[in-house]
Amino acid sequence: MDKAYEILNQLNIEANDFFIANHGKLYLEAKLKIINNSIGTLCGRCDGSPFYCPLDGVIYISEQILNKLDKNRPIGLHLILAHELGHHIQNQNGKDYQMQIDMQKGKSRLASTKELELDADMIAGQLLSSLLTKKELDCCLEFYKSIKEDELHGTIEERMECFSMGAFL
Ligand SMILES: [Zn+2]
Repeated sequence: MDKAYEILNQLNIEANDFFIANHGKLYLEAKLKIINNSIGTLCGRCDGSPFYCPLDGVIYISEQILNKLDKNRPIGLHLILAHELGHHIQNQNGKDYQMQIDMQKGKSRLASTKELELDADMIAGQLLSSLLTKKELDCCLEFYKSIKEDELHGTIEERMECFSMGAFL
């Protein structure tokens, strides 16, 4: 449990530097809430899967998923938290607001969501590139292969490509 808070803390520090360098604005730290199974949030019900709520700036994740990750693929926690922090950055740099405007102009929800998700993967790569070794970053890439593919996030290949762009370029 403590490990998750520690990782998020490191990521917040990275995100602060990233944010100042890229946007010249003050960064508000994301918070982490570890839940038991599921919980109601300002953004609707969270079933325990990693989830970011832009209304309260909190990343939610269940204890059950944390334990599973810890046992099987501990590096996954870095990747998951960094991806969710990517959404937090989008919330602050206006990227998700821009998507709302694009949707009003007729861009499909699917295309908009996918763009935000892949952008979060790229930010995750950028944030982790200074926290992890090359070998650990490769493990993160491998971790993508264990994620179930869905339309909203893009294909696993696209996700790995975006992460790599952030992490290795
Ligand atoms: Zn996401």
